[in-house]
Amino acid sequence: MYLIDSHCHLDRLDLTAYQGDLSLALNAAHDRGVSHFLAVSVTLDDVAELKDMARQYPTVFASAGVHPLQDLAHEPTVEELVKEAEDELIVAVGETGLDYHYAPESKALQRERFKRHLIAAQKVDKPVIIHTREAKEDTLEMLEQYGPDAKGVLHCFTEDLDMARRGVALGYYISISGIVTFRNADQVREVAKAVPLDALLVETDSPYLAPMPHRGKKCEPQYVRDVAEFIAEQRGISYEELAMQTTANFFRLFKGAKPKITADDLDV
Ligand SMILES: [Zn+2]
Ligand SMILES: [Zn+2]
Repeated sequence: MYLIDSHCHLDRLDLTAYQGDLSLALNAAHDRGVSHFLAVSVTLDDVAELKDMARQYPTVFASAGVHPLQDLAHEPTVEELVKEAEDELIVAVGETGLDYHYAPESKALQRERFKRHLIAAQKVDKPVIIHTREAKEDTLEMLEQYGPDAKGVLHCFTEDLDMARRGVALGYYISISGIVTFRNADQVREVAKAVPLDALLVETDSPYLAPMPHRGKKCEPQYVRDVAEFIAEQRGISYEELAMQTTANFFRLFKGAKPKITADDLDV
């Protein structure tokens, strides 16, 4: 069975160990049963490079959007977002969302930017990748009001179980990163155990947040295997079942992403 890294920043990886060659990092992931990758954009300037990667590597998919804390000098318009997101190589809008932990002073601006992404996602009929931190009620309220029919994912989820449940009730998926392995992450473990299996995704958010036992190293997509094994153990299910379910969830949510290789191809 194979696994998908549903959220990574392939244009920001530290490839020193791979002589700067991304294909070697992807192969290292394939060797551990990681089949596909969603390369997530944080500014619109990233999108061209991510599309190039998706063209070059059939197992890479790309998104288009502006992170709530990035590129503050320029507010993308709905038209700009639609123009980038309507490309067939783009399978999702984001990452977008609200981060009141790092920038509580910009709440109003963040909400306006988030709203534009949600409207753009509805126009192109693609799911949204949502970054949310200490902005529970505003995030849920905006998803309720403006969330696209194609729904989306609350990525690198670190908020409480109540928010996860309410997000799932609205039709959104919950993606768990390597934070779930950190010593102080009891709340994330509680969510990882309780989220319905058919609403769960796994990710690395690499190059950030390397999971145990790789902490201190630069994170890379192959470590999503460690995240998945950890969650499977927490839930008391097999790694194979978790991999199969999260992979099925990924392709159900990101309809523009088509599987390019099978578990047999990877032979793991
Ligand atoms: Zn994020
Ligand atoms: Zn990210």
